[in-house]
Parts: sequence; structure tokens; C-alpha cells
Amino acid sequence: MLHLACDTHTHTTFSRHAYSTVEENVRAAAELLFELLGVTDHFSPMVHPEVQTGVDLRDYQHFLNFEVWPKTWHGVRLMHGCEADIVDLEGHLYGWDMPVDRGLGGPYAWRDTLQEAVFRDCDYVIASVHAHAWAEGATREQVTQMYIHALEHPKVLILGHIGRSGLDFDVDEVCAAARDLGKLIEINESSLYGRHNTSDRCRHIAKRCMAVGCMVSTGSDAHISHDVARLDHTRELLESMGFSARLVATRDAETFLGVCEAAVAK
Ligand SMILES: [Zn+2]
Ligand SMILES: [Zn+2]
Repeated sequence: MLHLACDTHTHTTFSRHAYSTVEENVRAAAELLFELLGVTDHFSPMVHPEVQTGVDLRDYQHFLNFEVWPKTWHGVRLMHGCEADIVDLEGHLYGWDMPVDRGLGGPYAWRDTLQEAVFRDCDYVIASVHAHAWAEGATREQVTQMYIHALEHPKVLILGHIGRSGLDFDVDEVCAAARDLGKLIEINESSLYGRHNTSDRCRHIAKRCMAVGCMVSTGSDAHISHDVARLDHTRELLESMGFSARLVATRDAETFLGVCEAAVAK
């Protein structure tokens, strides 16, 4: 049986359409004997409206106090990051063009963008496409380059749920870029059943990852603690195609931490 010990994509109440706390998610991971949990709340216009007059950091405090999180909690290695929306065909990630003009205690002294402020203390970032009206009419080559540019961001470790983005792109080219950058393509549990079910497409992508030699991560994309560390469909998908365990970065915590350390800028 394929051993999976890390859930690298989960949400908490910060994401607003998710329902559990960090500790509830950690306990759920511990109960299923998982070694590592990544908490990756949405960094996206889904969570807070974009403000024309400037961005207020008080809406993003969740991402600004990670230093209080224990490194290990209930025996689980706890990592903190975010799932950032890809927002244009250049592969920019949310917040890249938003100057911050108010900090937690008044006018903001640094000249950061919102993205810099939020990414600073993230262990890693997942780059995902959610709404994509901006990609309407895009060519296959443009979407391919969009994903590659997103991967090239020094904080991005994982491309999230590319199987259900609804966009057409050159899967081999994106997988090869991930391989060459030492980064990961996600096999996303919530894309394999229920309303987001795109399992045929995900199977194709997993096959191409194996053919190209690109490593994958496994994420439940849980929006409630009940779903944390439940990766049954993912395990079944990978096992059914004889996916090489050597290419599964989430087979144990040590492997995932090593990949993250090598690929993501501090
Ligand atoms: Zn969500
Ligand atoms: Zn997610």
C-alpha cells in the first residue's frame, strides 16, 4: 500500500468558507497518524474584497503571526503557508500589485506589497487557479507559460489542483518545469470525488508526472477537520497506476521537508 504521511493543503476558518481551527485540523491529522500537516488558507479575493483605496493589513493578520505556532503539535509537524490565487496570464499571484498602506497599528511604515507581507513567513505557497475570467480566450501556450511563471516564484512549492482548473495547457511542459525547479504538482483529493470530480483529468496528469519524473504532493484540500488527512481517492488513484513512491514527496515528513528546504526561498 502506498504510504502517505503528509497533508499539505488544508483550510481553517480564516478562509471563511471553511469551518475548523488549526488545532482541530492538527488533531485530525494526528488521529490518522499523519506526520505532517500544512495549513494553507486562501490568499485570494475570495476572502476579503479588494479595496481600491489601499490594502489594510488588519484583514490578513492570520498570515502575520505564524511565529506563535508550535513546530510540532500533538506529534504532528505543523507547517504554515497559503494557497495564493494565480490572477493573470503572466502567472502573477494575488497581492503582487497591491501596496499596503495601513498596518496593524496605523499607517504602514514599510513599502511592501500585500504579497510580500503575507508570503514573508510562509513555509511554502500553493499557487492555484480559482476564478479565471481573465483567462478567457487564452491560448494553450499562454496558459502553459502562466503555470510555469507561477512555479518560478521563489516562495511557490506546489501547483494546486491543476486537474480541475478548467484550463487547457501542455501538461508535459508544466510537469517538466516543476521537475527542473524541484517543485511539486499536487494530487488534490477533493478533485477526485463530489462536485469537483475531475478524476479522469487528474489521472492523466498523474501519469504524465510519472512519465516526466516530476514529484507530486498530496493534499486533502480539507475545508473542515473531518476531511484532514483523508486521502483515500488519491491513494487509490496513485496505486492503480503503479505510481512510483520515490516521486511522492509526501510519503513521509522528512522527504517533504527536504524538498521544501531545497526549493523554497526563506
Ligand atoms: Zn476553498
Ligand atoms: Zn484549497
